[in-house]
Amino acid sequence: APTVTPQVVINAHDLPYLNSKLPVKLRVKDLLGRMTLAEKVGQMTQAERNALRSKSDIATYALGSLLSGGGSVPTPNTPAGWAAMIDSFQLNAQATRLQVPLIYGVDAVHGHNNVIGATILPHNIGMGATHDPELSRRAGEVTATEVRATGVPWDFAPCVCVVRDDRWGRTYEGFSEDPALVKVMASVITGMQGKADGSQLNQSNRVLASAKHYVGDGGTTYGSSTTGSYKIDQGVTEVTRQQLEAIHLDPFKTSVDLGVGTVMPSYSSVDIIGDDGTSISGPVKMHGNAELINGVLKQRMGFDGFVISDWQAIDQLPGDYPSDIRTSINAGLDMIMVPTNYQGFTQGLTDEVTAGRVTQARVDDAVRRILVQKFKLGLFERPYADTGKLDTIGSAAHRAVGREAAAKSQVLLKNEGNVLPLAPTAKVYVAGSNANDLGNQLGGWSISWQGASGNTTTGTTILDGIKQVVPTATFSQDASAPLEGHDVGVVVVGERPYAEGIGDVGNNGHDLALSDADKAAVDKVCAATKCVVLVVAGRPQVIADQLGEIDALVASWLPGTEGAGVADVLFGKKPFSGRLPVSWPKAESQQPLNVGDASYDPQYPFGWGLTTQAAARQELLDTKKELLRKGFLSPEVLASVIYIDLALRVKDWSGPQATSALAALAQAGKYLQRTKVDSFNDGDAVVAAARWIAQDQIGQNLDEATSKLTSDAEHLAFNGDLTGAIAKLAAAHKLK
Ligand code: BGC
Repeated sequence: APTVTPQVVINAHDLPYLNSKLPVKLRVKDLLGRMTLAEKVGQMTQAERNALRSKSDIATYALGSLLSGGGSVPTPNTPAGWAAMIDSFQLNAQATRLQVPLIYGVDAVHGHNNVIGATILPHNIGMGATHDPELSRRAGEVTATEVRATGVPWDFAPCVCVVRDDRWGRTYEGFSEDPALVKVMASVITGMQGKADGSQLNQSNRVLASAKHYVGDGGTTYGSSTTGSYKIDQGVTEVTRQQLEAIHLDPFKTSVDLGVGTVMPSYSSVDIIGDDGTSISGPVKMHGNAELINGVLKQRMGFDGFVISDWQAIDQLPGDYPSDIRTSINAGLDMIMVPTNYQGFTQGLTDEVTAGRVTQARVDDAVRRILVQKFKLGLFERPYADTGKLDTIGSAAHRAVGREAAAKSQVLLKNEGNVLPLAPTAKVYVAGSNANDLGNQLGGWSISWQGASGNTTTGTTILDGIKQVVPTATFSQDASAPLEGHDVGVVVVGERPYAEGIGDVGNNGHDLALSDADKAAVDKVCAATKCVVLVVAGRPQVIADQLGEIDALVASWLPGTEGAGVADVLFGKKPFSGRLPVSWPKAESQQPLNVGDASYDPQYPFGWGLTTQAAARQELLDTKKELLRKGFLSPEVLASVIYIDLALRVKDWSGPQATSALAALAQAGKYLQRTKVDSFNDGDAVVAAARWIAQDQIGQNLDEATSKLTSDAEHLAFNGDLTGAIAKLAAAHKLK
């Protein structure tokens, strides 16, 4: 076996690569020049912490990286427990000839989600609903700070997948079905890494990000997977070249431009098809796809970080293990998440290089890429956890961001008779399987890989949040307590936690339908009182049959540990501002259902989201305040402020005044979008507020025609055709 003799720590501190004053390029060159083949192969190897036969294997195999797979946690699973674990591994890496630190990786896909007590943010689908890139950036910073505090410098996130079929069990890991929205939300990478040149990666609030899963993971054809009993995860993405570029590759280009340090290929395959639908390339596994990894990602997009394989994914390539190693490394993979048989992998790669089937130059390129990131992260100077920062984990400041994100992710789908917002004095009845279950509210990738129901960590459930406002609220999960005497019922329904591989097996309770128990709770409560239904789930749930009996419907997604944020919008402390990141189907058989489809007929279209008039007014007031505060009063901005004022004076939004106020607001929005005051896009806020006010009005007693017109307006507005959108809205008004 290719071993490196473990040695007692030697004093290598006068070697040039250890001099932090030298440029990274020189340090890498110096270090690379000193390394043996075994040491280089070790850098390209990532093992799972539980697979280590002994910690000394870190030195014996000169391992470059370790990971915690989902739910692979130290005992005790506390911030300090994590820090101690990482330090003990690094200590062994320091016992090597060259003292190259390990780069440890975890899946912190919505906060430091493996650690008990950490802030767990909404899953990406909810973040997508916020349509708020600045919030996404801040969320990335919260995650990075908590992860780095435990000594972990690398996070296998974000998933910049474009979710084209909600039957995919990883739907919630993605931001949207729309590549444009995914690209905008990729700002989370900046929150995690800081500046695109990587110059801030050595700071204590930064980690290396990983854009995954390259490419087309969210576009696989239902039924194309050959892996186990999965129906869609790890399947085949059948797309034309043009679709591959426009839908799936584009968010990766954005990620590369933001300086993402690593990219993880997808388990799935890509099959390029012609316009007539026939296969051109045949399905090619992404882990062996030289054209898309070497050609597109590295050469064309100029990605200069390193490519990390997915978990044991090279084993799925056709051929024996030596051929898997050869194919993947030659296709452009730089580090392999082996993750158990690191002995076999290091031996196999050494053999391939010795036989000339993998070139020395390819190995040097891979190791160079890995070392560059290790130097940028400052690991050579600071390999251990910064225990001084451990108290940031689950801190009040971080939970406040989680609460804000939970609030902003709520999408108000229906609000008949303005049942929302609830009055703090209301007599509230709460029911449903997800009203008082923290684990269900977190979803998968939370403390354990698949997630679990119950009190798995610290946080507030939605019921807790409601009770903070209305301490006397009645709770009965199955609505078996007396319903009389309540003003309103809040029924929280939805999915139980799951992660990859399972959510897409159609017949085990993880399809897009509500459970019978949840349906019964909705029926009971809605028959007895005004009712609000919250759907806590990783994706839309089909609710068409019960929609008629429901007064208000909210898509709550998987809001994380801060259930109080959901209560904030229910009681009008914050406006509803979320908008659908994916189309909401009428029936599961409509999948795949995406905006722009030829026969697009959703229950609620992509981008849909109501608010309350009061909230929209607040938004306008805030925008106006913000504009005046900036003191950047060009004639256009000034005119916008006047228009906003005008709109704020409108009392009766059902009269003719409203139409002209809307037109004025649209004009203000256009001005502001053009002016782009600072980085804050005030124009968007104004346009959104105009749209909300209109929707709120038209939203009363929607008949089919007005609903059609407003959804058309929605599309037009989203595509930038504001004049068209306003015309549709005006027409809808007239109909009314
Ligand atoms: C998942 C990846 C994840 C990796 C490591 C794989 O099964 O597909 O998204 O990063 O495990 O936990």
